Amino acid sequence: MSNIAVFPGSFDPITKGHVNIIERALPLFDKIIIAIGKNSNKKYMYDSDKRKEWIINSFKGNNKIEVDEYDGLTVDYCKKVNANFILRGLRTSADFEFERAIAHTNHKLNPKVDTVFILSSEEYSSISSSIVREVASHGGDVSMLIGRGVDLS
Ligand code: ADP
Repeated sequence: MSNIAVFPGSFDPITKGHVNIIERALPLFDKIIIAIGKNSNKKYMYDSDKRKEWIINSFKGNNKIEVDEYDGLTVDYCKKVNANFILRGLRTSADFEFERAIAHTNHKLNPKVDTVFILSSEEYSSISSSIVREVASHGGDVSMLIGRGVDLS
């Protein structure tokens, strides 16, 4: 059986922090599906086509990575794509508390799916999409926060 992980998120936009987690998780899995969750209650700064394009650009040529969009429950999406793991990154203890509740709930909803956490590298642990959006919206330079594949202009 191959090990497939879903890395769910908003990726509004994808940052160096996300890329680092995905690159470090690659040796663990046969495939990682980066899945952009569509949440109708959430307001996004960048439209989903752009967010998807930036993720594709960030991993060009890597045949272990797929990029997709989904709505509904993450565990239902995992079932649909035969994924047995959810991948998430942890920056802080606040991330941990938040992620712990979601991981427990997801495991109850589908015991066949386990969540794997990778601790953020120190240099990326203060990066968040919301900080990128804030700086970018005021015309600041975000090049140290986002990867080569992302062009916010
Ligand atoms: P969501 O809206 O689901 O929180 P995000 O795109 O903000 O989506 O984050 C997706 C995942 O990436 C989460 O597990 C989050 O903790 C992780 N993540 C975000 N930024 C970083 C970072 N700088 N370092 C490590 N993990 C990160």
